[in-house]
Amino acid sequence: MSQKKEEPFSISWLTDLPYRYSMGPIALRFFEELKETGKFLGIKCKKCGKVYFPPRAICADCLVEMTLDEMFDIGHEGTLDGFTVVNYPFVDPNTGETRPFPYGYGAIKLLGADTWMLHFVDETDPDKVKPGMRVKAVIKPKGERKGTLEDIPYFRAVEKK
Ligand SMILES: [Zn+2]
Repeated sequence: MSQKKEEPFSISWLTDLPYRYSMGPIALRFFEELKETGKFLGIKCKKCGKVYFPPRAICADCLVEMTLDEMFDIGHEGTLDGFTVVNYPFVDPNTGETRPFPYGYGAIKLLGADTWMLHFVDETDPDKVKPGMRVKAVIKPKGERKGTLEDIPYFRAVEKK
């Protein structure tokens, strides 16, 4: 007796899930500074000296609460310590659209920081990327910045002088 093949059962729907997120004073200061001046603010734990970029409110190592007074301009340059080329369509959560691919994505440690930031990299050829290579953030002009990570379109290799 043959078994009847059933079609898979599926339901599709769109769900609207609005929410509000309180980012706290440290992240708020970071995004305000990015929008107004284009500067990156890191934060240094006053107990252990660990430097975080992006900044965070609590030191992950010693659990000390950090304050706005410990934030400082950390600059735009760092090293590219991890890298991949994304060759797969992903929905960009910022736009709801599929991000054009391929694109480079990397772990960047700003000079003076002890932590990494994951962000886009303006390179899709792995042969052109060396571990630890110097990169610099590209920042949108002041009138185009909104105080979000989209104000930093990508990092690019620093030109050799
Ligand atoms: Zn600490």
